[in-house]
Amino acid sequence: MPAVSLNLTTDVVELTRALCDIESVSGNENAIANSIETALRAYPHLDVTRDADAIVARTSLGRGTRVLIAGHIDTVPVADNLPTRLETIDGVQHLWGRGTVDMKAGVAVQLKLAAELTEPNVDVTWIFYDHEEVDATLNGMGRLSRNRPDLLEGDFAVLCEPTSAGIEGGCNGTMRIEISTKGVKAHSARAWMGVNAIHAVEEILARLNRYSLQEVEVDGLVYKESLNAVLISGGIATNVIPDSAKVTVNYRFAPSKSIADAEAHLREVFEGFQVKVTDASAGARPGLDQPAAAAFIAATGLVARPKYGWTDVARFSALGVPAINFGPGDPNKAHADDESCPVDQIYSCEAALRKWLTA
Ligand SMILES: [Zn+2]
Repeated sequence: MPAVSLNLTTDVVELTRALCDIESVSGNENAIANSIETALRAYPHLDVTRDADAIVARTSLGRGTRVLIAGHIDTVPVADNLPTRLETIDGVQHLWGRGTVDMKAGVAVQLKLAAELTEPNVDVTWIFYDHEEVDATLNGMGRLSRNRPDLLEGDFAVLCEPTSAGIEGGCNGTMRIEISTKGVKAHSARAWMGVNAIHAVEEILARLNRYSLQEVEVDGLVYKESLNAVLISGGIATNVIPDSAKVTVNYRFAPSKSIADAEAHLREVFEGFQVKVTDASAGARPGLDQPAAAAFIAATGLVARPKYGWTDVARFSALGVPAINFGPGDPNKAHADDESCPVDQIYSCEAALRKWLTA
């Protein structure tokens, strides 16, 4: 099937519509990737590389600084919300439909600027990747970092995920642990013969209730941490004293802590219990002390806020590249059936990035 041809220099809202109307639910990015690759290859100032359904387009102007600007091209499944349409919601013009927020408006801004900024003031690596909305093992940026780490080298990164056109720096890390209690099984009619493992959970919950939450300043932003029981299980029958129980705890920790720091802290909090780490992802420092980040904030005049959810900025951070989130659309509308993005935010993100890259 021939690729739908994209006009990258058209109005950015029109370009967003065109991108959204090429359905690209995770696993089905081939068509949109073909369209993006073909469109970018028309610009001689860009070196274009394709890796599966990810596309990287780089300027090579020999600038002293290189910034990475990234966005994913897949969406969650369509919920009868394509094709897109323009709609006025509460007096504000919105582009409605799957992908308008998460995150093809951001991708449209990237594509338009990639085409139009032939001589940005820093070298730019424009990254468009697949499989963000599914299992992390499939993530296109993760694959790029394994196949072509050289393409992800840079001083600073902007991920155009929705932030309502505000700057959200870094992200908290996340760790899940299972805390087990052991007891001795017995018939509940002769309970004194056993030891109840569910009752032993009380102390775990007491420590969680007593735990005082930390606020940690990292590169000038204050990150709120949290520590919560998220699952609990135990018992095998209604007439048996349970010999085992388990509480799953999720720790969201500031990006100044490594995974090892987080684990050591949790082992201390739950000392005396058996603790097993089941899943962990480090956070990402916002890197607002980097000159490229400072220039970005100065050019946009925006105030940075901390990001709490885990995003792919952490992948950049793991590569040693500080990163922020900045993109059009309310993140609370991402994945919603009534997903819609205020068009003025698409224009303001385009203007802000343009100003930063040409100032
Ligand atoms: Zn997204």
